Amino acid sequence: MYDYLIVGAGLYGAVCARQLTDAGKKVLVIDKRSHIAGNVYTEKMEGINVHIYGAHIFHTNNKSVWEYVNRFSVFNRFTNSPVANYKGELYSLPFNMYTFNKMWGVVTPEEAAAKIEEQRKAAGIDNPQNLEEQAISLVGTDIYEKLIKGYTQKQWGRPCEDLPAFIIKRLPVRLTFDNNYFNALYQGIPVGGYTKMVESMLDGIEVRLDTDYFANKAELDSQADKVIYTGPIDAYFDYKLGNLEYRSVRFETEVLDKPNFQGNAAVNYTDADTPWTRIIEHKWFEFGKDEDGNDLPKTVISREYSSEWKLGDEPYYPVNDEKNGKLYADYKVLADKETKVIFGGRLGEYKYYDMDQVIAVALDKAAELLKA
Ligand SMILES: Cc1cc2nc3c(=O)[nH]c(=O)nc-3n(C[C@H](O)[C@H](O)[C@H](O)COP(=O)(O)OP(=O)(O)OC[C@H]3O[C@@H](n4cnc5c(N)ncnc54)[C@H](O)[C@@H]3O)c2cc1C
Repeated sequence: MYDYLIVGAGLYGAVCARQLTDAGKKVLVIDKRSHIAGNVYTEKMEGINVHIYGAHIFHTNNKSVWEYVNRFSVFNRFTNSPVANYKGELYSLPFNMYTFNKMWGVVTPEEAAAKIEEQRKAAGIDNPQNLEEQAISLVGTDIYEKLIKGYTQKQWGRPCEDLPAFIIKRLPVRLTFDNNYFNALYQGIPVGGYTKMVESMLDGIEVRLDTDYFANKAELDSQADKVIYTGPIDAYFDYKLGNLEYRSVRFETEVLDKPNFQGNAAVNYTDADTPWTRIIEHKWFEFGKDEDGNDLPKTVISREYSSEWKLGDEPYYPVNDEKNGKLYADYKVLADKETKVIFGGRLGEYKYYDMDQVIAVALDKAAELLKA
């Protein structure tokens, strides 16, 4: 008999499992996949930790979450500084003085600000009606045409003129030479990969892989007082109100027999003709070295394609629209009626959480359960 059955060995499940176990509870963790770590799973290929479900960069302003994760892993000093490739022209991201210098030859922040203002004014858009007009009214035509238009179209599978303006509320423009994508106090990649970090979180806890909760629900339920469920909320209710929608991503991963393909972890392809949105070169998350500091002779890249999602595909990003928001609210009413089951995590709450956020809510939930 267990105090808690935890469905899902991702970050939410692993943090709850750690906290409850440390407080003396008996916990069983199951996952239908053949590995732990959920979507932050990394797999070693040619000595490189490959981010199988998409690139994950840990960044947070939450000091206690940062201290918490550092209990389970050392973090390296990786800083996310993506590069944009527009038809072979390379630009720094996020938009900053390096970008503006390359785009217009401007040298000082005043010149850059004046150029943006000149383009904004020339566009003369007071009341943006779609994403294209919104972007141009914020940063002018050149940045929109080269760095936003094609990329956004590929991401959403629709022309920017057909996308609502509200998707882009603001576009951060930095008048400094700062390529650090995240405005976070703490940032890095766990040395040895995320899988190793989650393994350390789950140390000493019983984990059963290749175990689908729904294949054996009644029996699994009967073995625990409470269930923490981190799978999709609509799947729990057998989709009886309909299925929640996601945006999906497809990855094409390749091992290359060369040490360096693009010289950076992330390169975004911002033109409309290149079919992928970006290429991740995984070794640069760890500076091209293995854990002993040796250079790695090969490299692994993943091309990312944004794609429509259909039931059965891997769910990635919840769709933040009225229809899905309402459907989730209806499922939440059903979930609140379940006395034995707690729904949590990105799928259980149908919510995009960064890693630090999902860890913070899992820590809060575990504390709440232990108080009750
Ligand atoms: C493409 C992409 C890139 C991202 N990049 C970043 C980033 O750079 N930085 C950042 O902070 N965050 C990033 N995130 C967010 C991050 O992935 C999430 O915060 C995190 O994975 C959420 O953990 P979770 O435990 O809620 O969910 P998951 O990791 O999805 O874990 C849920 C687990 O439940 C299991 N499960 C589901 N159903 C069942 C069942 N029936 N039976 C048994 N097991 C089941 C699943 O197999 C899965 O392992 C990114 C997300 C995406 C989609």
